[in-house]
Amino acid sequence: MSDNYLPASASNRRTFAIISHPDAGKTTITEKLLLLGSAIQVAGSVKGKRGPHATSDWMTMEQERGISVTSSVMQFPYHERTVNLLDTPGHEDFSEDTYRTLTAVDSALMVIDGAKGVEDRTIKLMNVCRLRDTPIFSFVNKLDRDIRDPIELLDEIEDVLDIQGAPINWPIGMGRHFKGVYNLYTDTIHCFKQGHGHTLHPDERIQGLDSDAARTLLDDEYDDFVDTIDLVRGASHEFSLEEFLAGRLSPVYFGTALANFGVREMLDDFVEWAPKPQARETTVRTVAAEESDFSGFVFKIQANMDPKHRDRIAFLRVCSGQYTKGMKMHHVRLGKELRIADAVSFKAGDRVLVEQACAGDIIGLHNHGTIQLGDTFTAGESLQFTGIPHFAPELFRRIRLKDPMKAKQLQKGLQQLSEEGSTQVFSPLRSSDLIVGAVGQLQFDVVAYRLKDEYKVEAIYEPVSVYTARWVDAKDPRKLEEFRKKAEEHLSVDGGGHLTYLAPTRVNLNLMQERYPDIVFRATREH
Ligand code: GDP
Repeated sequence: MSDNYLPASASNRRTFAIISHPDAGKTTITEKLLLLGSAIQVAGSVKGKRGPHATSDWMTMEQERGISVTSSVMQFPYHERTVNLLDTPGHEDFSEDTYRTLTAVDSALMVIDGAKGVEDRTIKLMNVCRLRDTPIFSFVNKLDRDIRDPIELLDEIEDVLDIQGAPINWPIGMGRHFKGVYNLYTDTIHCFKQGHGHTLHPDERIQGLDSDAARTLLDDEYDDFVDTIDLVRGASHEFSLEEFLAGRLSPVYFGTALANFGVREMLDDFVEWAPKPQARETTVRTVAAEESDFSGFVFKIQANMDPKHRDRIAFLRVCSGQYTKGMKMHHVRLGKELRIADAVSFKAGDRVLVEQACAGDIIGLHNHGTIQLGDTFTAGESLQFTGIPHFAPELFRRIRLKDPMKAKQLQKGLQQLSEEGSTQVFSPLRSSDLIVGAVGQLQFDVVAYRLKDEYKVEAIYEPVSVYTARWVDAKDPRKLEEFRKKAEEHLSVDGGGHLTYLAPTRVNLNLMQERYPDIVFRATREH
């Protein structure tokens, strides 16, 4: 298969993620994209969710729950491009991971369930994309069912998501009467073929809405459809590459991922229009993807992808230059040179040793505890990529060991889990307790499960009266010291050694902020 891959050149890379509300069809579209990219022979093998590629023990837990909590990277060739698709976990509680993944892409595909329209999670994720003006493709899914009026859906995308929608194609019918999509720009009908979910059917086209073939296909709906198209052309935005690249306008496609229809039409345009690897901000300067020196940052750490190895993989987005096997990298935070010969990539979901990777690619570095989320690697320059967020947790538990002899394992387990960013650990200044914080309940369950499964630690998770956490800092070290003395009772150190205020109530937090105006209380921390 590697023969299909193009030489590592930043200009042909297209790196994106799918954003959607759970159940809109992200997994199904991912399968079809991989099928189109010939990265897999049979659809249905993308995730552990569907069985065959379950890669770790604790994934059994997500299978039981019917959710997907892991995310991975898939690379496939398409036309003249190499596409990197970064999977994002779908469950609410794992949104932090998703946010960070969105910092590592150059564009996104928004999938909308045509029957449901724009849903909560999509709104939240769009807001994250907007922070960096990430260009967005839109796909309205499930046209094989009765969906809402497409015009209404387009309005909703514009109003709710505050982005202009430019329909590229328009559906002919829906549900049992779905006949295909009409491309407004090429004046071509792509005819719908039902029931070829696992194989690619040939792209059957009719050229010209004005043709006899189009009249035959549309039959007595013909006149109505021509009127609709006039209306759509008149009332909607025209596609503009410039507006799209600025993140202000989204091309909109209709189709049904399950029936494997419309995804190809979307992908054909995607590889043409989606931006190549973009320049990235650092603490020092902007780094262009075309620069020859290597640079990149870690946006995700994942454990135990391969149960045989029990290792952790740090996912690094290459921002400039090339990775070549055996090269030396500068680990900026530690100020150390590392020789890396065993970076992996994720073609078709399988791990393979990378010989070479370029800007836009994601490589996996084996992490033995020296790599943290947000770490920057360069060819030697001291700079740090910015904008990779760490959010304050909202739920807290005090951990008590059932077996006090396991204190070391507990420390180690928690430290590793917090490096992955799935949970955060706080050590109060005044006690030897350990407090774990997470953004949702599911994360506690995962922590408990993994501590038991991987570190053989059984623990009790007690409620603790903490409302929220704020990272604290001050320009003047004396002010910070003063605050530290006064507020010691509620201060902790997090896994990265940062001083954190654990506020027992919202009122208390407000009070402290008023009382100590020189102290900065941060709800997010950049790595
Ligand atoms: P995810 O949660 O966004 O990953 O969604 P999935 O891809 O798992 O899809 C959720 C459900 O919707 C599954 O039962 C799919 O079979 C179904 N589904 C996905 N795409 C379509 C479609 O085009 N038409 C119909 N009728 N069902 C679909």
